[in-house]
Amino acid sequence: MKPYLKRAWAEISLPALRKNIDTIKGMNSDKTEIMAVVKADAYGHGDEQICRCLAEECGIRYFAVSNLDEAIAVRGFCPHAEILILGYTPPEYAHEIARYNIIQGVVSSEYAHSLVSRCSEGIRCHIKIDTGMGRIGLKHDTPAACAEEIKQLCAIGGLSVEGIYTHFAAADSDSPDNIAYTDNQEKFILDTYDILCSDGIRLPHVHFMNSAACCYRNNPRSTLARAGIIMYGLHPDISLKIPEALEPVMELKAVISHVKTVKPGDCISYGRTFVAQREMPVATVTIGYADGYSRLLSSRGEILVHGKRCKIVGRVCMDQLMIDVSEVQAKPGDIVTLIGKDGGDMITADELASIYGTIGYEVVCGISKRVPRIYIK
Ligand SMILES: *Cc1c(COP(=O)(O)O)cnc(C)c1O
Repeated sequence: MKPYLKRAWAEISLPALRKNIDTIKGMNSDKTEIMAVVKADAYGHGDEQICRCLAEECGIRYFAVSNLDEAIAVRGFCPHAEILILGYTPPEYAHEIARYNIIQGVVSSEYAHSLVSRCSEGIRCHIKIDTGMGRIGLKHDTPAACAEEIKQLCAIGGLSVEGIYTHFAAADSDSPDNIAYTDNQEKFILDTYDILCSDGIRLPHVHFMNSAACCYRNNPRSTLARAGIIMYGLHPDISLKIPEALEPVMELKAVISHVKTVKPGDCISYGRTFVAQREMPVATVTIGYADGYSRLLSSRGEILVHGKRCKIVGRVCMDQLMIDVSEVQAKPGDIVTLIGKDGGDMITADELASIYGTIGYEVVCGISKRVPRIYIK
């Protein structure tokens, strides 16, 4: 392991990642292959090591990213992978898409034409259908009308249509209303696919499963499962259970830099929002909001020190924060756990997210570039 500054760092467990992939393979039908979603630097885990581990050790052949820069990076790590860009690539980059053998998500006929008109090599694509997410994709009232537009796309010279896909808006919900909504999204894309088949257009791929669908509505008709958050061991939605075997891949650690005893009436941190009511030991920890540990955790978050939870006192600063260490023996140099296991306890990114009203996705993606990622093989 290469040396790193032991100030604030993220430990990324590749054994946990490998185990999660096995678990997801076990959840999915044999007919469905995992498409690993590694956008946003593999949800903050570091795309290079995550992609290499997935391709070389887990046998993952399909990857999905959000943009061309990410796609070119993944191509560098995985020379033989199939890489789908889920989001928009400005048409002036059509040559790069072809040069790196990337598959582009196509969101409209107009977009398809502008890509091929700028590129003589031919563009590989999957067609995105908006069945209810309201974000990007072909939008039609009926599968028949949608299939009609796809047929026209298939006839464009220089465009190789290899699949169609859609994205669920609320598959991470167990309300009957949302389940019915997702049923309709799924039915729409499958009906569209079936019409294409009966008209002689048999595309290799039709995919609609995300992490939530892998957990709650697995469907063997999805040729690919675009698994993101569960690969990293987090919940699509904190209120619903995920298989217990899934394990968080990222831990976040820092150290204690200073310990002091404060007296009643002493103030801690900016704005003097915390005033000690009693004599107590307070430790300073070497992490702050510039590391992606949100200021919204001020006086609310907890940190594990020697397996015990210690409360944050006062505001989280840019590079440091303070905790109440009344319950533990803390000294400078001690390692503390902001996300992860220590002793019998564990703080997850999902737990932090629920404290300040976001989702685990945003917590892990938000761990900043300043925090070195240390890989446990
Ligand atoms: C991000 C994304 C995914 C992965 O979502 P998870 O909830 O992390 O599994 C799948 N498909 C599309 C289109 C996405 O943008």
